Amino acid sequence: DAAMFNAKRGRGRARTGPGTPTAQLTLEEDLRAALRHDRLQLHYQPIVARDGTITLAEALVRWPHPERGLLTPDTILSVAENGGLMHDLDSWVLRTALREAVTWQRPIGVTVNVSGIRPDAPNFSDEVSTAITASGIAPDRIVLEMVETLLVDLPARPRQAMRELARTGVRFAMDDFGTGYSSLARLKDLPTQIVKLDRRFVSGMGSDPADLGIARAVVELARAMDRTCIAEGVENTTQHALLNSLGIDACQGFLFSRPLPAAEFHALLKSPESAGPRKHDSGKGKP
Ligand code: C2E
Ligand code: MG
Ligand code: MG
Ligand code: MG
Repeated sequence: DAAMFNAKRGRGRARTGPGTPTAQLTLEEDLRAALRHDRLQLHYQPIVARDGTITLAEALVRWPHPERGLLTPDTILSVAENGGLMHDLDSWVLRTALREAVTWQRPIGVTVNVSGIRPDAPNFSDEVSTAITASGIAPDRIVLEMVETLLVDLPARPRQAMRELARTGVRFAMDDFGTGYSSLARLKDLPTQIVKLDRRFVSGMGSDPADLGIARAVVELARAMDRTCIAEGVENTTQHALLNSLGIDACQGFLFSRPLPAAEFHALLKSPESAGPRKHDSGKGKP
């Protein structure tokens, strides 16, 4: 059975190279099957508060493809996009992330990227609520990350749906802030409690005064609007120190950890350091 499946796919590939339309179609079929049979995986990257505590983890999709190795979101998302599978992908990720987060050692928050589950879809809040109920997770542990470009054009009704979910405890984050339209009006009237400073500003901060200026402005804006500000892509201690001096609330990046397979993330959460500073210095550096 499996051999036949492989032979069939092998035949398709023999006449084509990677990246050709046929290869793309084959990948779409593969992704459809992977979603159906739960063959995708989530990796989790810790988000670390000022006192060193892991307060959240971002779920990032990975696809261990039998022939192409571990595929990352750039490939997965483009295949899903072209195959009309974005909604199915996001749905799978949401359900899986909530189900896995329930088993974690500590009840920290889990953040999920959504672009195919859109607030302007008529069943948006139903779909999220159903996933929450099915997993049994507390709604206040969930953060839905959306890029600002998806949020700027939202008409009134979807904003209402977001507010309804927010009333149940679900939080929303504006992802990659600073790279899109950065609509300040939208930030003000959407229930986006978290702003994620895009990593391009973090990586440029040390050498480019304009990037440092943007980073500072975003952190101050978040503070003025009573939002939590998280920096993405923090890779070294210089960036970390600079962000702390600006007043950042939390950081995410390779300095702390790469995105980890579920089991490794589980083990990390069990380690006492992940729960923050020890008794004698607890409270130090808290925002
Ligand atoms: P994002 O939401 O901005 O996620 C952060 C990305 O930055 C992740 O890439 C992460 O691995 C990477 N990253 C984290 N720390 C560092 C660092 O210190 N340095 C550098 N250079 N990179 C770092 P990844 O996993 O490849 O995901 C890329 C993008 O794909 C994500 O960007 C998100 O927009 C999207 N994505 C990932 N998983 C999903 C998903 O399940 N559903 C949807 N709709 N989008 C997803
Ligand atoms: Mg994200
Ligand atoms: Mg981001
Ligand atoms: Mg980003």
